[in-house]
Amino acid sequence: MHELGMTQRLLSLVEAQARTHGCMVVQAVEIELNALAGMEPEALRHGFHALARGTVAEAAELAITLCPALAHCPACGYTDSVTSRVQACTQCGTWPLDIEDQEALRLVAIRGA
Ligand SMILES: [Zn+2]
Repeated sequence: MHELGMTQRLLSLVEAQARTHGCMVVQAVEIELNALAGMEPEALRHGFHALARGTVAEAAELAITLCPALAHCPACGYTDSVTSRVQACTQCGTWPLDIEDQEALRLVAIRGA
């Protein structure tokens, strides 16, 4: 359900952007996906294409960049970018780190005609 919600949100963002720019056919969608969002890029891509059927984004290519999340060490205060929740502090070895709350995904750009 979580993944479906994220995919639907992405699609509505894309549709809103397309409307704003008077874009009738979206050819490419560029997004950044938080590595800790718990979502596989492939699952997102499949879900998006399934949901986008019959919309302006029907034929859009989805370009997904995986972004690390920011984490703070509660012991030494070091801030690191992590791609996994099992990662310990690279400075002092403390685990777990405080993962910064971030958007699961971010729409970077759309291209269309
Ligand atoms: Zn530390």
